[in-house]
Amino acid sequence: MEECIFCKIIRGELPCHKIYEDEKILAFLDINPISKGHTLIIPKEHYVDIFDIPKDLLKYISSISQKLSKNHMEKLKADGINILQSNKPAANQVIIHYHIHVIPRYNDDGIILLHGTKKQESDLKKVLQELT
Ligand SMILES: [Zn+2]
Repeated sequence: MEECIFCKIIRGELPCHKIYEDEKILAFLDINPISKGHTLIIPKEHYVDIFDIPKDLLKYISSISQKLSKNHMEKLKADGINILQSNKPAANQVIIHYHIHVIPRYNDDGIILLHGTKKQESDLKKVLQELT
């Protein structure tokens, strides 16, 4: 994946503000942060999205998101954390290399990430039929 920005960061061809690194994972500050401390966690091997990444690595990267969430709560005095992970352009995946967003949240920060609208019971039942 020559042109992948995250692969370039991993190879050291582009700089990053590194927070954590081990043999499988790299975590660094998002250059377009939603909030103070907004961090991206990526696998060092190039995987496209949740449909592509091996299950064991998914478990591992999830455990790192927990570790960094605890770290960010403590060090940044965050009041909460959003974990966000997007797959495919329809879901606003911009960099096509699997990544998890760790987004520290602060009381009254005014950020609205996800906010649905109430649906009728009949609509929910229709969706349930499609899913099961
Ligand atoms: Zn990549």
